[in-house]
Amino acid sequence: MSAARTVSLAVPASERVIADLYELAARTATDGSIHGGGQRVAWGPIWREARAWFTEKVKTDLGLPVHVDPAGNAWVTLQGESDDSVVFGSHLDCVPSGGWLDGCLGVVAGIEVLRRHAAGGKSPVTLHLIDWADEEGARFGRSLAGSSSSAGTLDPHKELAHLVDRAGVKLPDALRENGVELDHMLDAHAYLLARKPKAYLELHIEQGPVLESLQEPTGVVLGTMGVERHMIRFKGQAVHAGATPIPLRQDAFLSAAEFALACRDIGLKFSGDTPRTRVVATCGVVKVEPGFVTAVPGFTEISLDMRALDAGVLAQMKAAAEEASHIAADRNGCSVAWEYIWQIEPRPFDPKLLEFCGEAVQQIVGRAPQLPSGPLHDAAEMAGIMPTVMMFAQSSPGISHTKLEDTPIPHLDKSIRAFQLLVEKTVAHVAGI
Ligand SMILES: [Zn+2]
Repeated sequence: MSAARTVSLAVPASERVIADLYELAARTATDGSIHGGGQRVAWGPIWREARAWFTEKVKTDLGLPVHVDPAGNAWVTLQGESDDSVVFGSHLDCVPSGGWLDGCLGVVAGIEVLRRHAAGGKSPVTLHLIDWADEEGARFGRSLAGSSSSAGTLDPHKELAHLVDRAGVKLPDALRENGVELDHMLDAHAYLLARKPKAYLELHIEQGPVLESLQEPTGVVLGTMGVERHMIRFKGQAVHAGATPIPLRQDAFLSAAEFALACRDIGLKFSGDTPRTRVVATCGVVKVEPGFVTAVPGFTEISLDMRALDAGVLAQMKAAAEEASHIAADRNGCSVAWEYIWQIEPRPFDPKLLEFCGEAVQQIVGRAPQLPSGPLHDAAEMAGIMPTVMMFAQSSPGISHTKLEDTPIPHLDKSIRAFQLLVEKTVAHVAGI
């Protein structure tokens, strides 16, 4: 093991983190700039380049090795006085031409947490930094592959074995190229539990416009919303657009259109006034058949994605949408059928860690706004097995999964400093100090 570089605690944490993020972008983004478009798609060569940067950085600055678990997650461990551990991290992978912060911020801020702890003497508990593998699912379509293996919730044979990318590469072959065997991925669960994890913390960008609209640099994440995702199919009769009077039609598209408007109303009706009670409902895909200008649509398929932090509210929204689909079908003389696509329960975060997160943000910013996360994160998987909380940095403009994604440096600075405080509070709590 090589000796760690001396880290000056006088240098603000955020300064080193931001410098590291620039360094990472220089190696893994098109044209090497932060807005050039990150190309760290999981299991591919540029993702491996990001991992190589991570491994070198950890070795140079901390003198520590990186261990890769059976699901391909990369671990860095700073042994404390007790084996009980606080775990934190995020993901270095990104969507094609993605942003410089989505995922990387949490991993790189985690390196700084370790640097400061290593420089400040032995920590009372052990610290683990994780770079989760394939959070995005950008190449094969299944998100959270690494963290769901660690959580023990993934069924690799059912959910991964059949997946193929656009070039025809099978996921099991891409995994093997990276030293991961499909048959052994779930061993990552025992690997995680053996590390006696007592808390999981994640810093991430918001990826939406809420903090920006509140003019807040950073916020406390209440949990990840539950999701109900379905495909709804309206069946009518395709007929000639000129020959068929409107009252005699069975227009499947009009059923879908009325249904989409009803879903917007359901989203508005079930949304409360607070971030905790805000819900969303989205119809993002519509396929109309036969699909030419002189035919009344005889068949329409429309997707529905509904999200809420409260499981009871989400169930009521789904029931209301089902009722709306039947009304929309009846009004247009059509039939309707629902096909389940995917569902996940809401994952509210741990009350004690939410308290620490609120205190940390309050200490740095003077306020502690709260919001739920609509997007899923690795933290949602960890919330199923240990106390978990996330902190968001503002996205400005409130978008991500694009190279335009950004957070102003002063906001990044506050978020990074608040996250360091959250780790301190959690370490003290787990150590019983
Ligand atoms: Zn992310």
